[in-house]
Amino acid sequence: MPKYVFVTGGVISSVGKGTLAASIGKILAVRGVKVDFLKIDPYVNVDAGTMNPYVHGEVYVTADGGETDLDLGWYERFTGITMSRLNNLTTGQVFSSVIEKERRGEYLGQCVQIIPHVTDEIKSRIRAVAERRGADVVVVEIGGTVGDIEGLPFYEAARQMRLEEETLFVHVALVIYHEATKEMKTKAFQHSLQELRRIGIQPDVIVARSPTMITEEVRRKLALFGTLPKEAVFCSYNVSPVYRLPLVLEEQGLGDYVARKLGLPNQPDWTGWRKVVELYDRATGSVRIALCGKYAALEDSYVSIREALGHAAAHLGVRAEVVMVDAEALERDPAKVESLRSFDGILVAPGFGRRGAEGKIAAISYARRSGTPFLGICFGMQLAVVEFARNVLGLEGANSTELDQSTPHPVIDLLPEQKGVTAMGGTMRLGEHEVLIREGTLAHRVYKTSSVRRRHRHRYEVNPDYWEVLRKGGLVFSGTSPDGRRVEVIEIPDHPFFVASQFHPEFSSTVESPEPLFLAFVDAARRFRAERAAAVASQSL
Ligand code: GLN
Repeated sequence: MPKYVFVTGGVISSVGKGTLAASIGKILAVRGVKVDFLKIDPYVNVDAGTMNPYVHGEVYVTADGGETDLDLGWYERFTGITMSRLNNLTTGQVFSSVIEKERRGEYLGQCVQIIPHVTDEIKSRIRAVAERRGADVVVVEIGGTVGDIEGLPFYEAARQMRLEEETLFVHVALVIYHEATKEMKTKAFQHSLQELRRIGIQPDVIVARSPTMITEEVRRKLALFGTLPKEAVFCSYNVSPVYRLPLVLEEQGLGDYVARKLGLPNQPDWTGWRKVVELYDRATGSVRIALCGKYAALEDSYVSIREALGHAAAHLGVRAEVVMVDAEALERDPAKVESLRSFDGILVAPGFGRRGAEGKIAAISYARRSGTPFLGICFGMQLAVVEFARNVLGLEGANSTELDQSTPHPVIDLLPEQKGVTAMGGTMRLGEHEVLIREGTLAHRVYKTSSVRRRHRHRYEVNPDYWEVLRKGGLVFSGTSPDGRRVEVIEIPDHPFFVASQFHPEFSSTVESPEPLFLAFVDAARRFRAERAAAVASQSL
């Protein structure tokens, strides 16, 4: 029978539930336990695809085409287990299914209620995750903060499951450091425990989130208020890289405690994981990468890209210093483009819509002209084609029809199957598709194979009407769809590293297995940096 570990959060959102849930999964996986994950998002959207990445963070695309919460990315990066759309449950999904069932007459004669109809639906969705890969343990992370109105049906379902299944409840909340008295304060944490108990949940494990390790006194207090032995209280303090978190929790005894509580195997093998964490520790020197996008203020907007750069750098023995470059600022003040000179590589991010697009084009143009290593992803590839058409081929006003419907040169246009699609939710070209890599290209040297599968999320593509003129002008299509009718990778041969992909390589990178395109890009950036340093040195001789 599968077992369930519920992770709840208190005091603030973004308390680190995602990386904690991923760490717990890892802690079990290294014990040979078959784990799976469920992220519950209590908002009413059916999925994350229609939300603003500026507020909610990046939309994580699963192999099967789900547009999901970014925490699924942490689950994959920590454990390497491929997530599916089933691993993310929202209020929107639960209610639309209950309402459909009601209309079909499945509850005929009954008054359809939150308890039991909605909670039953939630429980069956949680159990379905266990069936997906025959998991021994499902780690269920309940998004938001305990006490949120929209979370209540989910907490209630979890409470009921305590009677029906073998469960373990982990509550993580912030311990507040109070500057004035230089003390760690637990009052807000206590209140979140009370709130949890008010809805009928007594945690089995408490995790204090704080910048540094909690004191014994704080631990004792939390145990007392949590009605738990001190051995059940742990601390998730700031670690770098974040992949160290499972090791830190293991050292505190979390793995042992959870394994014993749930009667699971208890012989962890951390050899592989320790090695990758050590890669980060051993890294010397750095590469400066400009990450050019419009969601500049929220770190989580490009979390998978940042992490993929970090994975690649660690495996190359360097540190990736990723600096957000606001595409809108470049657009407003084109002179700012010169500031890109301080970077060893320029990555132009995925995106939608007009805002900041000209700034991204300016950054691409700079990368192309200056020989700075460039990686474009999705929108970043489309804009690289626009830049090439305008500035190399001289096609004035060339654009994507996403940005300018009446462009004289629509080098990027809607996918044919998208014409006539008006609904916004889940209607893009999504998920994993095969990509053929052409021999003799840089992409082929990078992937060392002629076929890869990568994840997608787009409505637009390189317009086939312009293929010939783009190719004649020197743009190489090094990756295509198997039917040969979509461009998947472009590159410019007489440039040290100018590659862009229609797919999203960032969703295929884990700390143990970095994505080859990121590896090649960071490696090119490292070489670019070394060459520039050598040039400066020889000048000063
Ligand atoms: N807006 C572009 C499209 O829909 C690119 C999308 C993306 O970057 N994910 O095709």
